Amino acid sequence: RVNRSDFLQALDEVHPLYGISEEELSSVVQNGIIHYDAVVDEILNDGRLFIEQVRTSQRTPLVSILLHGPPGSGKTALAATIAMASEFPFIKIISPDQMVGFSESQKIAAIAKTFSDSYKSPLSVIVVDQIERLIDWVSIGPRFSNGVVQTLTVLMGKRPPKERRLLVIATTSSRPLITEIEMADVFDSEIRVPPISDSKALDTVIRELKLFGSEAEYRYAMEKLRQAGLTGEGHLNIGIKKLLSVVEMARQEPEAVADRLVQALMQLAPPPGTMIV
Ligand code: ATP
Ligand code: MG
Repeated sequence: RVNRSDFLQALDEVHPLYGISEEELSSVVQNGIIHYDAVVDEILNDGRLFIEQVRTSQRTPLVSILLHGPPGSGKTALAATIAMASEFPFIKIISPDQMVGFSESQKIAAIAKTFSDSYKSPLSVIVVDQIERLIDWVSIGPRFSNGVVQTLTVLMGKRPPKERRLLVIATTSSRPLITEIEMADVFDSEIRVPPISDSKALDTVIRELKLFGSEAEYRYAMEKLRQAGLTGEGHLNIGIKKLLSVVEMARQEPEAVADRLVQALMQLAPPPGTMIV
C-alpha cells in the first residue's frame, strides 16, 4: 500500500531534480524555436515519436538518439525542446558547461549519478549534450577521455531497471568522431540538424525577429541580399545560433540595419558555386 509519506518521499526524490533541470533546460532554449524550415518541425516530430515509443512500447525501455549537425545549428535547443515536451517526471541535461574544472573521475561520477537518479523515475529523458566536449576531444593528437567514452557507451546502452524507461538524446557537432570513438552503435537513430542554407528560411527568421521597422526597409535589405548573391537555395551556410547573433548585431545600428546584416552574411557565405551538403 502506498501512503502519504511514501508519496512525499517520492516527490522529494524526483522533484528537486526535475525542478533544477527545468531551469537549465529552458535556459538553453532562451531564444525560443523559430519554425524557419520544414526540417525544424520534422525534427521535433521525430522527437515526439521517440518519446511516445519510450512511453508506450514494452519492448524498448531504452531509446538513444543522436542529434548531429554543424556548430550552432540548434542541436541543444532542439534536444531540450523535445525533452521538455515529454513532460516525463525526470528530465535532465548532462552538459560540459556543468563540468568545467572537473577531473575525469568527477565527470564520470556526475554522468553515472544522473543515470542512476533517472532510474528512480518510471519515465526519464537525459540530454547528453556536446559529446565531443564531454569527452575532452582534442583533434590534435588526437586525444580524448577514454574513461568518459566508456562510461557514456555503457550507460547509454544499458537497459534501465524493470518498469523504468529512458530516452537519451545526445548531441554532437562532429558526427565522424562518433564513429571514430566507436559510439555509433549505441544509437537507435540519428537526426541531422542542418544549417540554414536558403534565403527563404533567412527571411522567416528576419520577419519573426521583426528586424526591420518598415516594409520598405525590409525590401531594401532583400534587394541588397540579392545583389550580394545570397538569395535562393544553397547560398547561405549559417547556424540559427549565429544568425540570431548577427541579427541582434545589425539591430544595434538602426540607420544601417540592412547593410550590417548583408555585410555579416557576406562574410559567412561560402564561395560562389559551393554546394552545401
Ligand atoms: P553548438 O554547436 O555551439 O552546441 P547548437 O547547435 O547546440 O550549438 P544551440 O545552442 O541550440 O545550437 O543554439 C540555437 C539557438 O537558436 C538557441 O538560442 C535557440 O533558442 C535558438 N533557435 C531559434 N530557432 C531555433 C530552431 N528552429 N532550432 C533550434 N534553435 C533555435
Ligand atoms: Mg549545443
